[in-house]
Amino acid sequence: MRLQEYQGKELFRRIGIPVADGEIAFSPAEAEEIARRLGGPVVVKAQVLVGGRGKAGGIKLAQTPAEARAHAENILHMTIKGERVRKVFVTKAVEIEREFYLSITIDRAAKRPIVIFSAEGGMEIEELARRYPEKIIRFHVDPLMGLQAYQVRTALFQAGIASSLMRPLGEIFSKLYQAFVQYRANLVEINPLALSDGKLIAVDSKFIIDDDDVPAELAGWEEEELSGSPQERAAKQAGLQYVKLDGNIGIIGNGAGLVMATLDLVARQGGRPANFLDVGGGANAEVMKKALQIVLSDPDVRGLFINIFGGITRCDEVARGLVATQHELGIRVPMVVRLTGTNELEGRKILEAQGITPVADMEEGAATIVRHVHQSS
Ligand code: GDP
Ligand code: MN
Repeated sequence: MRLQEYQGKELFRRIGIPVADGEIAFSPAEAEEIARRLGGPVVVKAQVLVGGRGKAGGIKLAQTPAEARAHAENILHMTIKGERVRKVFVTKAVEIEREFYLSITIDRAAKRPIVIFSAEGGMEIEELARRYPEKIIRFHVDPLMGLQAYQVRTALFQAGIASSLMRPLGEIFSKLYQAFVQYRANLVEINPLALSDGKLIAVDSKFIIDDDDVPAELAGWEEEELSGSPQERAAKQAGLQYVKLDGNIGIIGNGAGLVMATLDLVARQGGRPANFLDVGGGANAEVMKKALQIVLSDPDVRGLFINIFGGITRCDEVARGLVATQHELGIRVPMVVRLTGTNELEGRKILEAQGITPVADMEEGAATIVRHVHQSS
């Protein structure tokens, strides 16, 4: 889960990393109002989850509230690297004397957090690495020991930082490390970390939070930020693994491996899957219903192949979910069900009472759904 700049800055504020005041605007009028409230020059910043907003024209300095309004008008119409801008962050402009780069991420090879610092900042890390490779300082942190003061001092010394800046920069290092741990981040980045009037201030923020360990404090933060299709959003909210594909046969299965195999079988029969959807282990009728709703709400779907291998998942629960959905939504596309394993007989009975006959195996299932879909289109 990625955070928007304004959300990341809220976390910086909570943890004690200085940021400029600012507020979110959804319209030019709101942007003007916020600029007036903040007073003085402001920066109007597109809130999108892609980097390089500045270069794309999504970040503009405004001297007056009227100018902030005009910039917001422009930026709110932009699409940056494929992402539509829906809101802007209007924030007090910072006078920048100097820009640093600081980030903490996981070095998977070393199985440890790695701190990356550069006395040059502002440009993206890739560009920094190209232009000033010798200026990038990296060091690992022992996760049990935490970030040690001597490591920070060594890094800052190596980077040629003046002694007067050692302590304030060191404080930012330890607070960022605290944020990294506390918010279960896979990545935190401040770029630029600016020196302004002798003080350090985070001018930008980037957070990637571990999806499997989102802290309770951040519950709901993703909701309004979700991008993607309505199906992808609904799946994410329901905790289902869903990937949109470019075909027309909706696929639902349990277990990522089984679903992948199902996609392959359908493709081998000359069909094109519309999606990958894994309901996971132990799916009950409710989860099954949700999965069906998501797949059926995709206008590309012309047929449905449900492939369940009952283990922890019970076939009767799956069948009940299917029947409930049939009653509530009406399933109007051809459907093929393969159901085997735990409580298979009960499941079959429930389906057969509704006139649905499960196929014997997945090869037959794939061939059947492909045939139906070809006939009906
Ligand atoms: P990014 O392009 O998505 O990384 O967005 P940033 O928030 O990092 O802004 C891009 C660049 O705009 C920064 O590197 C700064 O040089 C400049 N910038 C952003 N905010 C301010 C500000 O308040 N004052 C000044 N002087 N420059 C800013
Ligand atoms: Mn930046």
